[in-house]
Amino acid sequence: MAKFEGYKDIYVFVEQKNGTVAEVGYELISEARKLVASIPEMGYQVVGALLGSNITDKAQDVIAHGADKVIVVDDELLKDYSTQFYTDALTQIIKEFKPDSFLTGATVLGRDLAPRVAARINAGLTADATKIEIDTEKAKDGEALLLVTRPTFGGNLFGTIVCPDTRPQMATIRPKVFDMAPVDASRTGEVVSFAPKWETTEPEVTIDKVVEKIVEGVDITKANILVGAGRGAEGCLDLVEACAKELDGVVCATRAVVEDGYMDKALQVGQTGKTVRPSLYIACGISGAVQHVAGMEKSDMIIAINRDPQAEIFTIANMGFVGDVNEVLPLLVEEIKKAKAA
Ligand SMILES: Cc1cc2nc3c(=O)[nH]c(=O)nc-3n(C[C@H](O)[C@H](O)[C@H](O)COP(=O)(O)OP(=O)(O)OC[C@H]3O[C@@H](n4cnc5c(N)ncnc54)[C@H](O)[C@@H]3O)c2cc1C
Repeated sequence: MAKFEGYKDIYVFVEQKNGTVAEVGYELISEARKLVASIPEMGYQVVGALLGSNITDKAQDVIAHGADKVIVVDDELLKDYSTQFYTDALTQIIKEFKPDSFLTGATVLGRDLAPRVAARINAGLTADATKIEIDTEKAKDGEALLLVTRPTFGGNLFGTIVCPDTRPQMATIRPKVFDMAPVDASRTGEVVSFAPKWETTEPEVTIDKVVEKIVEGVDITKANILVGAGRGAEGCLDLVEACAKELDGVVCATRAVVEDGYMDKALQVGQTGKTVRPSLYIACGISGAVQHVAGMEKSDMIIAINRDPQAEIFTIANMGFVGDVNEVLPLLVEEIKKAKAA
């Protein structure tokens, strides 16, 4: 008899707001597809958990992004995010359907919801994961043990965490860590409506007013070209901006530059900033500390400018200039201008 009788499949929480699904849900579904493919002997499916109000029509999108099945809870109580009702609903989904693993985006909402659900059902949760694998050897014996890796000790080490004693194995994963597979609108799957039994429909917290956050400037996670400023470029930020402008790109920064007061925290890339994956990342005067690299190493092309030939950034760069940013950047901008004019 299997160790965890009845537990199966990899579930993904499909976060949505006002009917718009957060991309991280689709990124996790894409990764879950790879995980189930690595253990064909288990016959696992990828299942989305979609909670909200008037969201049933989104289930097909979830299937088109790679889910085999979607559990939908469509209820007026779930219109806006509420820790109480979302935890109640998700806990009941887990008790009813018995997922073997349950993945949630490490968004503000996911970081609130997942630990509460885990505590309710007494399951293990690994927060802020950067890599997920399955022990394929154990799968031969009928156990789909998740190996969840996350940075630890300030990002200087990576730890791999397993939860062998409880189910589901839960993890939160940051947005942009995984690729989103192409959408296949012809995919078919099963949509299951689930109605939770509410112990109370009285909210513990009432929301008087929702004030939309004013987002100033651009969102670096959506930029296709980023020019990153490190401490070595603090004296020539105008050149960094000029380079970004010529390339129709956006400026971002290391934590050092943010802490020194030159740039806003919203522009910080890295472990305690944002994870980005542009097609081009130009690192100007950036040493390549592991905490910064964690947020940009998945960029398609990395070009580094640093006067120290031993700088760590060169170990992950596709192309590098050893030199002073004050000298290299004007030349680069000039060449970009010429190339655009040609
Ligand atoms: C828990 C924790 C979380 C962290 N999170 C983050 C994070 O999210 N993001 C982040 O970025 N950091 C983070 N850090 C900080 C990180 O460890 C580094 O300190 C930081 O990334 C260094 O920034 P930097 O490369 O700009 O500066 P430095 O390390 O000071 O490097 C400056 C570089 O510029 C080069 N240079 C200097 N002058 C010039 C010049 N004129 N021309 C060319 N090159 C020049 C130098 O050779 C050097 O390599 C974190 C640290 C901790 C402990």
